[in-house]
Amino acid sequence: MESTEKKGMNRRTFIKVGMVGTATALIAPPAFADTLQQMAETERSAFPKPVYRTLGRTGLKITVVSFGAMLTPEPEVIRVALEQGVNYIDTARRYMGGKNEEIVGKAIKGMRDKVFIATKTRPESKTKADIFLDVETSLKALGTDHIDVIQLHHVTDRERIFYPETREALAQLKKQGKVRFCGVTTHKNEAEVLNALTGDPDRFFDTCLVKYNFKSDKEVTTAIDRAASAGIGIIAMKTQAGGYDTTGLGKISPHQAALKWVLQNPKVTAAIPGMRNMTEYREDIAVMGMPFTYADLRRLDRYAEAIAPFYCSFCGTCETGCPRRVEISTVNRALMYAEGGYRDISLARATYAELPRQAKAATCVDCEGCTARCVNGLDIAAKMERARAVLA
Ligand code: SF4
Ligand code: SF4
Repeated sequence: MESTEKKGMNRRTFIKVGMVGTATALIAPPAFADTLQQMAETERSAFPKPVYRTLGRTGLKITVVSFGAMLTPEPEVIRVALEQGVNYIDTARRYMGGKNEEIVGKAIKGMRDKVFIATKTRPESKTKADIFLDVETSLKALGTDHIDVIQLHHVTDRERIFYPETREALAQLKKQGKVRFCGVTTHKNEAEVLNALTGDPDRFFDTCLVKYNFKSDKEVTTAIDRAASAGIGIIAMKTQAGGYDTTGLGKISPHQAALKWVLQNPKVTAAIPGMRNMTEYREDIAVMGMPFTYADLRRLDRYAEAIAPFYCSFCGTCETGCPRRVEISTVNRALMYAEGGYRDISLARATYAELPRQAKAATCVDCEGCTARCVNGLDIAAKMERARAVLA
C-alpha cells in the first residue's frame, strides 16, 4: 500500500479531488465548490459501479467492498466513499482510543440515511451496565441516534455468545431503537464461534465479522458456509493477511488479489479493508466486480512465501505448549498492528495492554527455553522478544 505522497498525491491534492458532492457543499466556498465538483465528476468515472450483496437475515444490502475505518484519520476519505455508493462503515470504540468513532461521526454528518454503521462494544464488556455504557458512548461519539449493527468485540469461544446478561442488555437496546441488529467479531477460534452462532436456537446474533483470508483453514470456510446458509451475515476482515509491505514482490500488489480471493466466496457478503487514505481507498474499491484470476492465485502464492517468516494466523495452537500460558496469538496480533500494513503503534499497544500481566511477552524473560511450537514454523521466542522491544 503506497502512501499518497509516493503517488505524487499530497494532502492538498487529496483535498482537491477528494471532497465531492455533499462534502463539497458543506466545506468549500461556492466558486471553489464548482471547481471541486468538476474534479469530482472526473474522479467519479475512475470508480467502479458499486456491487451490493445482502447481509444475511438483516436484509441490509451493502457494498461488497465496504469501509474499514479503523486506520482512517481523515473523515473526508470516508465521505468520498459514501459519495461513491459505499454504504457500510465498520468502526469500534477502541480504535484510536475512541477517536475513530468521532471521525466516522464527522464523515456521516448529513448523510446518515445513506449509510449503515457497525461498531463494537469493548472486548471486556459483559454485564448490562457495560453494554449500556458502551452503546451510549458510541452513539454520542458517532453523533447518531442508532447503530445499525452492534458487535461484541473479539469473541473467542461459545461462552460469550450465550452470556445471558449481555443478551438482555442488547435486547433492551433493540427495543429502545438504539441498535437494529447484533453481531460478533472473531479472529481466534473463528470456526468455533461461527458454529456456535449457527447452532443458536434463539438466532440471537445476525452477523459475524470474521478474520478470513487466503491463508485461512478449510474449517473456517466450511463454518462460514454453514453460518451463511443459516442466515448469518458474513463480513470478512484481515482479508489481506496483515497487509505487509510487498515492495520486494515487484510492481503488482497482492492486496487486490487477496480481496478478490475473499469476495469470490458468495457466502461472504462484504469485506472491510482498512483504508487510510485515497490511494488505499482506490486500490481496494477497484476490486468491486472484478473476478479472481489465475494471475491472482500466482500473486498470492508469492505473497504467502514472502510473509511466511512472520505471518501468524492467531490459531492459538502453540499456546498449549507454553507452561506459563502466554497468549502468543494476541501478542502476535499486536505485533502485526505495529509492524504489518497497519503501522498503528497505538492500536498495537492498546491490544497488548489489554492482556493480563501473565499473558504478556514479558513473562518469557525468565523462561529457560521456549517449548511452544508453531504450526507454521514461526520462531516464537524471537517473536516474543520482538514484542517486548516494540510493545512493552
Ligand atoms: S519462551 Fe515460550 S514457553 Fe517460555 S514463556 Fe515464552 S512463549 Fe512460553
Ligand atoms: S505462532 Fe503459530 S501456532 Fe501460535 S498462534 Fe501463531 S500461527 Fe498459531
